[in-house]
Amino acid sequence: MRSLGVFEKLRILGQASSYDVCAYPSADRPDIVFPGIYHAWASGKKVPLLKVLFTNHCSLNCRYCAFSSLTDSPRCTFEVEELVRLFMLMWRRGLVQGLFLSSAIPVHPDDTMEKMVSVARRLRYREGFKGYIHLKILPGTSRDLVMQAIPLATRLSINMEMPREDLLREVAPSKSLRSDVLPILPLLEGGFTTQFVVDLGPERDLELLKAVDVLVKRYTLKRAYFQAFRPITGTPLGNRPPGSKERQLRLYQGEFLVRRYGFSPEELVDHEGNLPKRIDPKTYWAKRHPHFFPLDLKGATYHELLRVPGIGPQLARRLVALQRKGELSLLTIEKTGINLRRSGRYLLLDGKALAKGSRQSPYP
Ligand code: SF4
Repeated sequence: MRSLGVFEKLRILGQASSYDVCAYPSADRPDIVFPGIYHAWASGKKVPLLKVLFTNHCSLNCRYCAFSSLTDSPRCTFEVEELVRLFMLMWRRGLVQGLFLSSAIPVHPDDTMEKMVSVARRLRYREGFKGYIHLKILPGTSRDLVMQAIPLATRLSINMEMPREDLLREVAPSKSLRSDVLPILPLLEGGFTTQFVVDLGPERDLELLKAVDVLVKRYTLKRAYFQAFRPITGTPLGNRPPGSKERQLRLYQGEFLVRRYGFSPEELVDHEGNLPKRIDPKTYWAKRHPHFFPLDLKGATYHELLRVPGIGPQLARRLVALQRKGELSLLTIEKTGINLRRSGRYLLLDGKALAKGSRQSPYP
């Protein structure tokens, strides 16, 4: 068989990495501008990353995946040194500023994880690269290799894919949350991110949000990403309809509310356990809790303010600071950047409606 050149491998393994997400999706920007070069967004800035799989040879049989042992697609594998040199070449030319390295699992996860760790180690210690390295921890990796990966990576992630063991087994019979993923989580003390695939099975939004809640409270989850299922021709699930982007968006909103705003998953979903489709989950919650509003800014706590549609942690902090200094007035409130058209109808100041034309209470 003809051996592939490094740029051909980059094309194949860069394209292959598109199934892993590491940023919120956006309709108005292409994330992958060239196979292998991926634009992540950090603090409003575009950061080009070399985003590749180490290999797309896989012995596992995930039924949705283009690279499982059940499919027939072009395969290749980087050599450790080849990938180090490729990254340094792209970095020196200013094409990329960091590395996102994931992989399929040809034999045992440790064999591949060891090579991924070697890439990161050579970049850090031999090449002196101090920038961003995101390492995907492969399910089933041994404790020793996870511990080796931790100090080398800027960010670590491990994919859950599904919120429950039985649901995962149905679509990925050779993977187990219980034995391949959960034992790794306590080791990731510095934090990790994860990914769920949406509409891959019968999972409800409540189950996904509960999983996020547990991962935040019991472990160190920093963020969960949601990838709407993309059917791939030639795979056993290739005939299923694609996952809903609308649902993906609502899950991102719900995840934020659970992880950062103190909402419980149960508060955000309907009687079937799903997030609303037509409005964002916070407005949905506000509509179902008219007794909570209007909220007087003079006495509102930080956590109460976080429940007002349009108010996030930064704005809530500013409003509480004004309150503590005794400087709450229409003028100072407007200067916080609050959108009074959106949030004003839920708020009072000294017992008076804040939004022009609103009644004292927005709800009868
Ligand atoms: S582990 Fe599963 S999802 Fe990952 S490459 Fe292999 S078959 Fe695909």
